[in-house]
Amino acid sequence: MSDRITCPECNGRRGEQLGPLFLACRFCGGTGWVGDTNEPAERGEQAPPEPPPAWEHKVWLDSWISQRVGCRYCLGTGKVTTIDEESRTMVSAPCPACTTP
Ligand SMILES: [Zn+2]
Ligand SMILES: [Zn+2]
Repeated sequence: MSDRITCPECNGRRGEQLGPLFLACRFCGGTGWVGDTNEPAERGEQAPPEPPPAWEHKVWLDSWISQRVGCRYCLGTGKVTTIDEESRTMVSAPCPACTTP
């Protein structure tokens, strides 16, 4: 939260007129000002939050299921699949719960 100021990118013009096209200023979001409740950093292009890992699914709150499946991390396969944050790919790793390094 900060004082409202005229957008330094578009000088308050809210964007750029390119022939028939009006391109809204991406810094201020086409409002012509930043600050106050219009913080570029807060709007940003943030990735949606990751879905919770499968083993945090509420099904595991059911002890009947967790007792019968065995290892609830890998379902007895010895491997777990996770999303690698950097490459955004699925990677398999030895199950941390039932595999000893
Ligand atoms: Zn602007
Ligand atoms: Zn396991």
